[in-house]
Amino acid sequence: MSSTNAKKAVVIGAGIGGLAAAIRLADQGLHTSVYESTGEPGGKIKEERIAGYRFDLGPSLFTMPELVMELDALTRSSAHVKMDLLPPAFQYQTLDRSTHYFWEDGTQIKAWANRKAFKKEVMEAVEVDPTALDQHLAHSQTIFEATRGLFLEQSLHEWRRFRWSAFRKAAPYLHQLPWLGSLHRLNRRKLREPHLVQIFDRYATYNGSDPHRAPAMLHVIPHLEHGLGTYFPNGGMAAIAQHLYALGKSLGVAFHFGQAVQKIAHQNGTVRGIELEINGQPHHVAAQVVVSNADVHPTYRKLLPELKAPEKTLNQERSTSGVIFYWGIRKAHPALHLHNILFSQNYHQEFQSIEAMGHPGSDPTVYINITSKIQSTDAPNGCENWFVMVNVSANPDAIESQIPTIRQAVLDKITRTLGHSVEEFIETESILSPRDIEKRTGSWRGALYGASSNKALSAFLRHRNRSRQINGLYFCGGSVHPGGGIPLCLLSARIASELIRTTAP
Ligand SMILES: Cc1cc2nc3c(=O)[nH]c(=O)nc-3n(C[C@H](O)[C@H](O)[C@H](O)COP(=O)(O)OP(=O)(O)OC[C@H]3O[C@@H](n4cnc5c(N)ncnc54)[C@H](O)[C@@H]3O)c2cc1C
Repeated sequence: MSSTNAKKAVVIGAGIGGLAAAIRLADQGLHTSVYESTGEPGGKIKEERIAGYRFDLGPSLFTMPELVMELDALTRSSAHVKMDLLPPAFQYQTLDRSTHYFWEDGTQIKAWANRKAFKKEVMEAVEVDPTALDQHLAHSQTIFEATRGLFLEQSLHEWRRFRWSAFRKAAPYLHQLPWLGSLHRLNRRKLREPHLVQIFDRYATYNGSDPHRAPAMLHVIPHLEHGLGTYFPNGGMAAIAQHLYALGKSLGVAFHFGQAVQKIAHQNGTVRGIELEINGQPHHVAAQVVVSNADVHPTYRKLLPELKAPEKTLNQERSTSGVIFYWGIRKAHPALHLHNILFSQNYHQEFQSIEAMGHPGSDPTVYINITSKIQSTDAPNGCENWFVMVNVSANPDAIESQIPTIRQAVLDKITRTLGHSVEEFIETESILSPRDIEKRTGSWRGALYGASSNKALSAFLRHRNRSRQINGLYFCGGSVHPGGGIPLCLLSARIASELIRTTAP
């Protein structure tokens, strides 16, 4: 196909999923345009600079960098790349540890990347059978390797394209997978020691779920950190989105910022393009392929209001949201590292409180991310850039008025756990609430990861990557299969673009 009669593709949204989809479609030779309602790329992955401090506003944990490198390599070898526009290679560093865990009883555990060092650290801190820990991590690896090809790297809704080779690869391990019970029950049965159970329970929050309700299958997540490792992108998390944006430009993707799509146009069951307003005038952009990277809920409610919506999928429980305080701290804290968790004393009660009141109450688990520990230029000399987050429900109405209470609970928790107050050292502050997340990214109710995984079959209820009702319409991003978080959003773009290659009209 010559470039003048190449198919036209429109991607709605320049989140990480939309950027990755645009790169893949441009590489396939489609004339690809991205329409983004805000003024810049990245969606939830943004940064802010205040008085000498740099803050990553959204994600802070970077795993599976190979998925970014795959897009880098794809672009560099693409027949459509303009070499003079290629950005320098994406750079990141491997971390020697993932998280520093703290409890009010004085227990501290550093999760070293080196398995031996981690085991030694755990055994010195708490009483635990080291074999149980080894076996638990090995079990996580088994689940990861069995489910990756089967559930994460292909659509679960396209039986004619189902890769049976992935099933055959997974088959010998399927009987070892934890099909029944909650993540918490699995962790308690296998590890027993309460601190360690809490560390492994917390992985449910990596997709915004409650470990006491989420299926034991989420024990797939620890392998990401303990097996595959954690990383830090040079420049911070925002550099990931900036890099994909630059790759897209080098492939000739046309980016349109500040342009909110108002409708997905379709006729006789086939997509025709998108509708938007430019300078107050209605404007139609024709396309044979449309990919929505916007949250699937507003995609149906706002962009396709005339279509019969998949109510069961849209009405699933949302994942948690967060209240985040970005503090410039005029003091160094040697005990803290890049990722720090100050655990609540009763995790079950904390999640019950989030379900009932929307927020964790007086004893929250507090996550503190400090990128200046790795990248010293992120804060002035002797200072630190704290990203301080608590989980809350995706219910903007309930949370907004509670922010002062949540802030006080966070400050008290830090004082009780670290042994000193930080309030007097806060020299800059900004706050992100579920309402802000919804306003800035279109994520329905400010959920961080689309739907929660609090039910046994949640993974199968995520929205499909190809529309059943409209030919030429596809979906990617955290609210559709295989789920939220940077790695899964990148995989969703890979699945959607593969479907486009094989099924687009
Ligand atoms: C505070 C926070 C912490 C997180 N921590 C982590 C973490 O540590 N690690 C991790 O992997 N993940 C984390 N996540 C989740 C991760 O950020 C998301 O899963 C991922 O970035 C979502 O990407 P996406 O492709 O779904 O698009 P989004 O980032 O949701 O972007 C969608 C884009 O679509 C645009 N859009 C919507 N509607 C329209 C329209 N009508 N027209 C045009 N444009 C439109 C929006 O403006 C937005 O830019 C976190 C998220 C948050 C908010």
